Amino acid sequence: MKYALVTGGSRGIGRAVCVKLAQLGYHVIINYVSAQDEAEKTLDLVRATGQTGELLPFDVSNQAEVSTALDSWMAAHPDAYIEVLVNNAGIRRDNLLALMSAADWHRVLDITLDGFYHVTQPLLQPMMFHKYGRIVNMASVTGLKGMPGQSNYAAAKGGLIAATKALAQEVGRKNITVNAVAPGFIRTDMVEGIDENTWKKSIPMGRFGTPDEVAALVGFLVSPDASYITGNVISINGGLYT
Ligand code: NAP
Repeated sequence: MKYALVTGGSRGIGRAVCVKLAQLGYHVIINYVSAQDEAEKTLDLVRATGQTGELLPFDVSNQAEVSTALDSWMAAHPDAYIEVLVNNAGIRRDNLLALMSAADWHRVLDITLDGFYHVTQPLLQPMMFHKYGRIVNMASVTGLKGMPGQSNYAAAKGGLIAATKALAQEVGRKNITVNAVAPGFIRTDMVEGIDENTWKKSIPMGRFGTPDEVAALVGFLVSPDASYITGNVISINGGLYT
């Protein structure tokens, strides 16, 4: 059995990625932090593909919680390893920097950057031992170009892109690829309150993207067809920023 872990798999892009990975033949480990009902819906969708899956709740920003969850998973699966990791969990807490609270600054960075470290670090040794791994980090167009009102999110996603490039150079010889995906506006709970009719005028393709479109890109990056792509950031934004 081949195992894939998706952080923030309960909703939105993460849910679509879970289903895509199941379609590619993976047993999908679905992480979430609070929305258990939604995570169970994702698990139902995974099972509907004919694959198996399981829920593994933890807060990616809490190192002790992540370690406990991953250690117990590894102890229960001594002969297996997680060969695909999609670091997808994320939040936004937008505000102009002049008005931004320290809590909003830290929460976004903690989930994106500390979360990347907490989940990725313990999974690297097994990937290196097996000389195979695929890591995809969910960045954002904001991490490439910046967006006003999102200095915390831009710093977090820009940092994630830099970490992607550094890690790819560390583990390339072990046949582990590390890439980032940088979506523009995608229709999920995260863009609730952002008016598509207003913003679509700035998007060359004239619409927001869908979680399935992002999941298709993630599916490609973890597939054998993408075996020589590493250390890259692939934009998926309808032409919003190139
Ligand atoms: P979403 O619908 O709001 O879903 C966020 C997911 O992250 C949920 O599964 C949530 O779990 C999980 N999560 C949040 N905090 C967590 C934590 N501390 N620990 C573990 N899981 C946590 O968001 P989305 O739009 O699908 O976004 C997914 C990723 O794509 C994020 O990294 C986001 O920054 C990035 N992105 C999104 C867009 C967009 O337009 N939607 C654009 C660019 C990049 P619960 O359900 O338990 O809360």
